[in-house]
Amino acid sequence: MASEAHPRAREQTSGRDLSYPPLPEPLIVGVYDNHTHLEISDGDNPLDYREHLDRASSVGVRGVIQVGGDLETSRWSAETAAAEPRLLAAVAIHPNEAPVYEAAGTLDDALAEIAELAGRPRVVAVGETGLDFFRTPEEGRAAQFRSFEAHIEIAKENGLALQIHDRDAHFDVIRTLLRVGAPERTVFHCYSGDAEMARVCADNGWYLSFAGNVTFKNADNLRAALAVAPRRLLLAETDAPFLTPMPYRGRPNAPYLLPHTIRAMAAYLETDTTVLAAQISSNTELVYGRWDAEPVTAPHELHNGAEPSHGDLA
Ligand SMILES: [Zn+2]
Ligand SMILES: [Zn+2]
Repeated sequence: MASEAHPRAREQTSGRDLSYPPLPEPLIVGVYDNHTHLEISDGDNPLDYREHLDRASSVGVRGVIQVGGDLETSRWSAETAAAEPRLLAAVAIHPNEAPVYEAAGTLDDALAEIAELAGRPRVVAVGETGLDFFRTPEEGRAAQFRSFEAHIEIAKENGLALQIHDRDAHFDVIRTLLRVGAPERTVFHCYSGDAEMARVCADNGWYLSFAGNVTFKNADNLRAALAVAPRRLLLAETDAPFLTPMPYRGRPNAPYLLPHTIRAMAAYLETDTTVLAAQISSNTELVYGRWDAEPVTAPHELHNGAEPSHGDLA
């Protein structure tokens, strides 16, 4: 989506090193990037999405969830996922975009199109949706709440995972989920709460997806949350091109840099990188299904539909 609409708009670019960091050492056990924006070109030398995925594959990042934030990027995410085996899609109107559509009188039409896109093959999540009280002032919040609730409904109707964007809105996000009922697989993308909120997530079976900011010096609250979160609820993401992990903070981010975040998480948890990568990989497949499954079958179809053929449930 347009960078000015994103909650983490570009930092001051003057004097910033805009070259992509070098490839990290490959992971032995592969993982998935739970949340990325490959349509946003960045850096001195912007990469095509296929180049991003090639670099990712070369270091053990096996696939990505490509996330939409408005109609244009949601359409692109769904269309690209249909043709690209390493990419699955999430579609939504971002919480900072909802008031913009509302002001134009087009929020209902936009939500109807998101509902249509949510039914497409290889669209496995509704997101990013949620609440952002950091960027959206008071007068835009009614539209945000309405849009968030509509997205929760779309996720439940389609048996899809929900990817939540929560910025400075923890209490209201949780209260909304509890009031209307969260989808079976609910993910806090770029988890930003503390350890106490991680316990609330754990009690409800909600997933915590950690981004590159968990590696930042001042992120003790995130690492405390990581420490108390059940391993079976951990996911990892880049949120590229934002939130580049250390030691490359400030330079453009990309899915191939996810190993830095995985290694930092493992070091903090005093566990083996391979063990953590295997856990995160398996968690990710439980939330979204398998990247090589074609077409993706929604879980509710498996319960109600015909007997799946051998191997479909792998
Ligand atoms: Zn977000
Ligand atoms: Zn994002």
